[in-house]
Amino acid sequence: MNGVHASFEGERCPNVESCSMPGHPMVKGDPAKLTRYQQEFCLTREAFAMCKRYQVFLELGFCPGFVLPDTDSDLLTIIDEHDNMMK
Ligand code: SF4
Repeated sequence: MNGVHASFEGERCPNVESCSMPGHPMVKGDPAKLTRYQQEFCLTREAFAMCKRYQVFLELGFCPGFVLPDTDSDLLTIIDEHDNMMK
């Protein structure tokens, strides 16, 4: 049993501890949505690579708080939106 558990360690998203996704207004207060995101992206083997937040983080070195794992917007749109919020 422990061997099975151990085999999945390191396969969850490396940003799990620091990610602000749980505090997103669309997630905070919605435990079911948080659990769904965690199961579909954060804690699922290699699925974190499909997370938009993770992809943005890889490109920019950070991820704006408004981005969700399944946000449709492409990187340039996200950057524009972030820049507009900073003005
Ligand atoms: S939301 Fe995305 S970036 Fe954040 S911990 Fe989950 S998989 Fe990683």
